[in-house]
Amino acid sequence: MFMKTKILIAGGGSAGWITAAVLSKGLPAQKYQIELIESQDVAPIGVGEASIPPIFQFLTYLEVSPAEFIKQTGGTFKYGIDFEGWGSPGRRYMHAFGPVGTHFEGITFADIWLAYAEQLGFKNLIPFSSSAVAAYKGKFSLPKARSGVGFKPLEQLFSAFHFDAGRLANFLKDYAIKKGCIWRQDHIASVNQHNQKIDSLTLASGQTVTADYFADCTGQVGLFNKQTLNGEFLDWRSWLPCDSALVVPTDRLEHLPPYTKSVAMSAGWRWQIPLQNRTGNGYVFSSQFITQKHAEKELQAALKLSDQNAQKMRLIQFKTGYLKKPWQANSIAIGLSAGFAEPLESTSIHLIYKYAIELKNAFIYGRDMQQEADDFNLKFEQDMLDIRDFLIAHYKINQYKNNDFWSSRQNMAIPDRLGQKLNSFKQSGQIDLPTGTLFSYYSWFQVLLGQGILDDQNQQVAALECQKLPDKQIADQFFKTIYQKIHQATEPLSAHQAVLRDLQLN
Ligand SMILES: Cc1cc2nc3c(=O)[nH]c(=O)nc-3n(C[C@H](O)[C@H](O)[C@H](O)COP(=O)(O)OP(=O)(O)OC[C@H]3O[C@@H](n4cnc5c(N)ncnc54)[C@H](O)[C@@H]3O)c2cc1C
Repeated sequence: MFMKTKILIAGGGSAGWITAAVLSKGLPAQKYQIELIESQDVAPIGVGEASIPPIFQFLTYLEVSPAEFIKQTGGTFKYGIDFEGWGSPGRRYMHAFGPVGTHFEGITFADIWLAYAEQLGFKNLIPFSSSAVAAYKGKFSLPKARSGVGFKPLEQLFSAFHFDAGRLANFLKDYAIKKGCIWRQDHIASVNQHNQKIDSLTLASGQTVTADYFADCTGQVGLFNKQTLNGEFLDWRSWLPCDSALVVPTDRLEHLPPYTKSVAMSAGWRWQIPLQNRTGNGYVFSSQFITQKHAEKELQAALKLSDQNAQKMRLIQFKTGYLKKPWQANSIAIGLSAGFAEPLESTSIHLIYKYAIELKNAFIYGRDMQQEADDFNLKFEQDMLDIRDFLIAHYKINQYKNNDFWSSRQNMAIPDRLGQKLNSFKQSGQIDLPTGTLFSYYSWFQVLLGQGILDDQNQQVAALECQKLPDKQIADQFFKTIYQKIHQATEPLSAHQAVLRDLQLN
C-alpha cells in the first residue's frame, strides 16, 4: 500500500498557519498528509502586524486577492516606515518601498544626488520617492503593471500590508483546513527523539503521534530544534540588544496613514501600526538600559494613555539571533523558533512564508533531502545576516548625545561585512549587495542618509569618478522634473481610506 508522507506542524501562531497554508496548497493530497497541532495552554505571541512588499507574491501563491486579504485581516496598506527621531532628535525620514528617482543617461539617481543635492539645496529624499510622497499625502493605489519605458511615478509605487495578527492566523487556518490540513488541539507534553531525529510526540491527551517530517513552529519555545535537537543558536544581543517589548492597543486612528511609524525612544523605539479597528503600538527596548517600569511610563506618556489603559500593556521578551541549522534531520524550524532579528523592518513574517515555500519546493523538486536541507540552511543564514546588518546600521549611525542606549550603539563594534558596506558608501556611494538580497540599494540609501551617515562628512562622496556626471544646471532641472512628476502623478490618487472602503464593498 502507498504510504503518504506525513508532515506534522507544531504550533498555531502565524508561522504554523502560514506553513500549513503553503504546504496544504502546494503539496498533492494524494501524496502528503499535513497535520497541525496547537496547544491551548500556550498562547501565540499575537504580534507581527506589518509586512514588506514580497507579501504580494505570497498572496499570489495562495490565490488570495489583496481585497480579500484586507477584508479578512482588518488590514491597511503600507508604503514604508516613517522614522521619527532616529539618527538624532527631531530628525525624520521615510524608508519607503521601491526606487528613489530614476536614472539619467545611464547614471543612477544616487550618484547624481550624492554629487549635487547639497550644493543645489535639496536636503530631503522624500519628494523623490513615489511611495513616500503618496504615503505622506495619505493616498493609495494598488501596484500597477510595469511597462519598463521612461519614468512613470505610479509604476514606482511599492506597497505591503498591515494586518491583525490574530485575524491573519484565523484566516490562514480556515484556508489550510479547507485545503485538507488536519487540525488538532493538544499540548505536546514531550518530544521523543531517536538517533538525533524527531521520532514521535507524546501529547497531553496521552496519545502518541508520529510523522516523517516535523515543522517546528512553536515560537520562542523552540520545542524541536532548540530544545530537543540542541541546535546551535547564534546570539546577536551584542549588536541588537533590544530584548523586550511593551505592547498596547489604542483606538483606531481617525485618518489611517498608509505607513508604519517608528519613533526613537530613550532605550529603543516604538511602533505605531494603523489597523481598521484599532492601532497597534509597542515599545521595543533593551532591559540593560531601562527598567520595565520606566519603559511603561515612557510609553504611557508618548501615547497619552490614561492609567486605566496603561494597565493593558503586555510585556513580551525575546532574544535576537538565529539557529545555524533551522532544518536539522527531519525537523524544520520556521518562525520565531528559527530566530528573530527584532521587528524594526518587519521581516519575520516574510521569512516565514519564504521558507515555508522553500520547504514545499524541497518536497516537490528535491531528490536528495540532505542537500535540500543544506541549501535551505545556507539561504536562511544569508537572509538573516543581510537583515541583521541592515538593522544594525539603523542603530550604529546616530548622533544622539548624553543617552546611554544610543551612545552605546554608536560605539559598538559592528560585524566586518557591515563595516565594509558603510565605509564603501561613505567613500563612493556604492554598497556591495548580494543578488536577490531582501533590501535593495535604495533601501540602504534612504536609511543611511536618513540616519545622517554623511552629516559629519564635509567633502562630498566621490560618486563614481569614471562616470560623466551631468553639469549642475542639468542636475538641478533633473531633480525638479522628478519632483514635479511625482507630485503631479500622486495628486489624483484616491485617499487610502477610500481605497480600503471600496475594497470592503467589493
Ligand atoms: C515585539 C514583536 C513585534 C513583532 N512585529 C513584527 C512585525 O511587525 N512584522 C513581522 O513580520 N514580524 C513581527 N514580529 C515577529 C512575529 O510576531 C512572528 O514572526 C510571528 O508572529 C510568528 O510567530 P510564531 O508563530 O513563530 O510563534 P507564536 O506566535 O509564539 O506561536 C507559537 C505556537 O506554538 C504553540 N506551542 C508552543 N508550545 C507548544 C506545545 N508544547 N505544544 C503544542 N503547541 C505549542 C503555541 O500554542 C502557539 O500556537 C514581531 C515579534 C515581536 C516579538
